[in-house]
Amino acid sequence: MKITVLTLFPEILRGFFESSIMARAVKAGRIEYELVNIRDYATDRHRKCDDEIFGGGAGMLMLPGPLGRALDAHGARTARTVFVTPSGRLFNQAYAADLAREERLVVVCGRYEGVDQRIIDEYVDDEISIGDYVLSSGEVAALVLVDAVYRLIPGVISGESLAEESFSGHGLLEYPQYTRPAVYGTIKVPEVLLSGHHANIAAWRLKAQIRKTLAYRPELFASAGLPDEVRRLLKEIVTEGGIDEPYPEDSGSAD
Ligand code: SAM
Repeated sequence: MKITVLTLFPEILRGFFESSIMARAVKAGRIEYELVNIRDYATDRHRKCDDEIFGGGAGMLMLPGPLGRALDAHGARTARTVFVTPSGRLFNQAYAADLAREERLVVVCGRYEGVDQRIIDEYVDDEISIGDYVLSSGEVAALVLVDAVYRLIPGVISGESLAEESFSGHGLLEYPQYTRPAVYGTIKVPEVLLSGHHANIAAWRLKAQIRKTLAYRPELFASAGLPDEVRRLLKEIVTEGGIDEPYPEDSGSAD
């Protein structure tokens, strides 16, 4: 995949692309990237990239001219072009997996109050929000998006590591994990995890996943296609705990 990020602050992103797993993926030729400074496409003496908003209101908006020229120069019209914005569609693991199938990804980082709507209408395929909060700029959001996407590209990290993560498989949260020592202070690792009995370990982990999902993200049980085993264990856990089942089998929705 080739990833192009358009930004007014490429230095915020550079360290990420030059470090750790991303650096290895680049070296191995699985990822190609370019950080484009939008200011290089400004034409005036002051390299101006923002201006006041028509109709009034606080703050400034990114000018369409420099950004449009940068997008044209870097093939945005023939790539999947996304703009990170709090007013976009909410990002999640399935969305990341969808973007990971692209050959070319162009990410536009906003600043100030955002970008001129005509840029969105003309170039942007997806407006994506990384969460229901407002950041001061798009660079951090772009990093979140790129990080979630590139690690799903085959060969970047092992398929085994991906298979057991939160939101994978059954779509539940990950089970609690432990490493050495088996006793830390006074706290022991659950006995079953030291038993070497793979079936019992898998059963313990599934139940722990269900408990954790029930505590933090009960709405995840509303997703279609939960295996019967998960539904059965969920029922068992809520009955044991005397709590209401979050989404009974026949409701089929979080609403
Ligand atoms: N005026 C915008 C609004 O109310 O929706 C907020 C602009 S924000 C201060 C500046 C830039 O940060 C945005 O253009 C966007 O690129 C980025 N940004 C902020 N929060 C974000 C979020 N939750 N998801 C994605 N990008 C975000």
